[in-house]
Amino acid sequence: MVASSETGQIAAAEYAILGGSGTGTLGSPEGDPRARVVQREKVFTTPFGDTPPLTNFQITDDAGVERSVLFVRPHEGRPEAGREARILALFWLLQRAGVRRIVAESGTASITQHFHPRDLIIPHDFIDLTRQCGGQLVPGSMISMRDPFCPDIREALWQRSRRFAADKATRVFNRAVHATVEGPRFETAAEVAALARLGGDIIGQAVTPAVYLAREIGACFATVEMVLNYAEGVRPEWDFDLLRAIVQEGAEELGGVALDALVALPPQPECSCASLRDPVERGEARAAAQL
Ligand SMILES: [Zn+2]
Repeated sequence: MVASSETGQIAAAEYAILGGSGTGTLGSPEGDPRARVVQREKVFTTPFGDTPPLTNFQITDDAGVERSVLFVRPHEGRPEAGREARILALFWLLQRAGVRRIVAESGTASITQHFHPRDLIIPHDFIDLTRQCGGQLVPGSMISMRDPFCPDIREALWQRSRRFAADKATRVFNRAVHATVEGPRFETAAEVAALARLGGDIIGQAVTPAVYLAREIGACFATVEMVLNYAEGVRPEWDFDLLRAIVQEGAEELGGVALDALVALPPQPECSCASLRDPVERGEARAAAQL
């Protein structure tokens, strides 16, 4: 069973893993003995341009049933294509592949005194003051941002992250506000202080727009982030060498946490994420049905 793109066919897949460019984890899914690669690093042309390279693999879930998964690093691909076009192209393709559940992982920076390098964070909400690209994939779509991160996936990430944290003698938190920054430069101390006053706990370039494009295509989404450094001004000094060491030593295993959570998800979603897509339209449909 396949869905067509302009330049080829993408295998039908209910699941996707978005790998963070900050951690560069899960270098190749075939590196995990449980994964059987079907299609490796294929780029698709869409109405928004080329996608980043996608790898399709099969994996057996905790109940012994095969799951088809697309793995992708959203920020990979030809730089001239532009980040926004690339991620719109990616979600266009994920929709056509039939993806309904997306697990993500990335690196992040702490903007509070409470989260330290190597901590794992599963955010429950986000602040995005960057330029938005919502509504371009499905023009005119109205999506609710109530509970933007899927509770099913957050719970699976929490259970697997706790095990990881125990093994690595680090910590995991399941409540935090992610604030998106655009990069590629780091933020000033004043910008960090401003985002902290607005309620942010961690900052990074990942998470949005993926979290709201996921809802736009009717898919569940949640993410686990590893703290790689303190943002500017949070501590008197932070060390680029420590960031590099965490990326090289520990962060590569974060992809394994995402994969563990994916195979542990219940076969049928128990959340209400799907009902939060087009809530206005659904409300109008209900109102019409009552007339
Ligand atoms: Zn959900």
